Amino acid sequence: MNRPYSQTRAAFQRARKVMPLGVSSNFRYAGDDTMVVARGEGPYIWDMDGNRYIDYRLAYGPVILGHGDKRVSDRIIQQLGMGNLYAHTHPLEIEVAERIARMCPGVDKVRLSNSGTEATMHATRLARAYTNRDGIIKLEGAYHGNHDYVLWSTANMPLGSGGSPRSPVAVAQSSGIPHEIRGMLYVARFNDFEGMERLVKDKGGNVAAMIIEPMLGNSACIMPEPGYLEHLCKLCDDHGIVLIFDEVKTGFRIANGGATEYFGVKADLYTFAKALGNGYPVAAIGGRKEVMDTIAFGQVVHGGTYCGNAVGTAAAAAVLEALETTPVLENIQKRGKRLMKGIGDILTEHGLPYFMTGHPAMFGLMFGPKTEKPKEFRDVIKGNFKMYDMFGEYMRDLGVDVEGDFREPFFLSEAHTDSVIDETLNIVNDAAKLTKQNYRP
Ligand code: PMP
Repeated sequence: MNRPYSQTRAAFQRARKVMPLGVSSNFRYAGDDTMVVARGEGPYIWDMDGNRYIDYRLAYGPVILGHGDKRVSDRIIQQLGMGNLYAHTHPLEIEVAERIARMCPGVDKVRLSNSGTEATMHATRLARAYTNRDGIIKLEGAYHGNHDYVLWSTANMPLGSGGSPRSPVAVAQSSGIPHEIRGMLYVARFNDFEGMERLVKDKGGNVAAMIIEPMLGNSACIMPEPGYLEHLCKLCDDHGIVLIFDEVKTGFRIANGGATEYFGVKADLYTFAKALGNGYPVAAIGGRKEVMDTIAFGQVVHGGTYCGNAVGTAAAAAVLEALETTPVLENIQKRGKRLMKGIGDILTEHGLPYFMTGHPAMFGLMFGPKTEKPKEFRDVIKGNFKMYDMFGEYMRDLGVDVEGDFREPFFLSEAHTDSVIDETLNIVNDAAKLTKQNYRP
C-alpha cells in the first residue's frame, strides 16, 4: 500500500481551481481523494500516477463490455470520417431502434436521446400528455436523473428526513428546484404494498406516471419482493396511470430484455441509457405504441440537436449486436455469481457483518450491524457506512476501485474475466483483514 498519488492529487487541485468541486458531476467528488483517471482498458482504469485499479464502478454502470472495447470503437471509427450529425435520420438510429424493439418485450416504438436524465424527463412528459394529469409517483431511494421533476427523495436524503413511513414526504435534493413541483410529487416506499395501494386509491386521479427502478439500483440494489412489480402494474392499470420502468441501470445489463424479461412484468414506458452505449452518450425511451405515438406534431415534443448522433448510435448498435449475438450477459452473470459468493465467504470468514443483494451484474454489498434482508431505502441507510468506507479505502489502495458508499452497486463488465475475479477476491481478503484489524466503531 505504498502507491504514489502525488500526480493525481496535483491534477485534482488544478481541476478544483476551474471546476466547482473539481468534477463535472457532483457524484464523482470524493473530497481530497477525488481521483483523476488518465485511461481505461478492459476491466481496468489507471490514475495520473499510473496506479492500476480493477474497476467495479464502471462510470456508474454504463461500461458493459469493458473500457475501450474494440467492437464499439471499430463501429465508431467507421463513422468518424462521415460526420456525426445531420438534420436527418441516420440508418444507425433505425438499426438501434429495431434492435431495442426486438430485444425488449413491451417496447413497440423507440425514440433516442443522449442521457438517462433526458430520457426520464421526456418519459414523464409523455405520461402527463397521455393521461392529461400532472402528478408523478416516485419511490424513496430511487434516482431518475437530475431534472426538477425527479430530483426528490433520492438515495442521498439523510436518515430521518423522509417523514413517517405511512406518509413519506418528498424531499428536494437540490436548491433551485421550484417549490411548486412538490405539489405534483407523491413519494412511496419500495416494497410497501399497502402504502402504495393507499396512495394510488387516494391520489390516483391526479397521477400521470409511476416511475420506478424495478430493482433499487441506486439504493444497494434492493430487489422487489415477489408480487411487488405485479402489484404496481395492476394498480397503474386500474387507475389509468402510466407505469415507467426506469431501466437506465438495469437495461441491457440484467437481461437482454431488461427488467421485463428478468422479472416478467411489463411497463407502459421504459427508459434506457448507460449500458446501451458502453459509456458513449446515448439513451432511449421506448414503450407501448399507443403511448409512444403521443409524440406527434401538435402533441408532445421530444427532440434535441444531438439525439441520434452517429457516435452514440454506433456505440449502441455495437453493444446491442454483441448482446444479441454472443452470450455477454450470461458470462457476466456467471462471473458475478462467483464474485458475490467469494466476497460473502471472505467477509464471513473475517467476521464482518454484511448483506448482499441484487443481480450478479450489479449488486449491493452493505455492511452491518443488521444483516437481515433490506426491503427498502430506509433499511439501507441504517447500514454501517463508516466500516464500509474503511473497507473501500483499503480496496482502492490495494488496486480495486469500488464506491466509498454502499448505496451504489458493484458493476461488472464482460472484460471482468475469471482471472480478474480471482485477483479481486485476493484483494477483498486483504481489505477485509485490515478492516477487521483496524475498525473502531
Ligand atoms: N435513472 C437511473 C435509474 C439512473 O441510475 C441514472 C443515473 N445514475 C439516471 C436515470 C440518470 O442518467 P444520466 O446520469 O445519464 O442522466
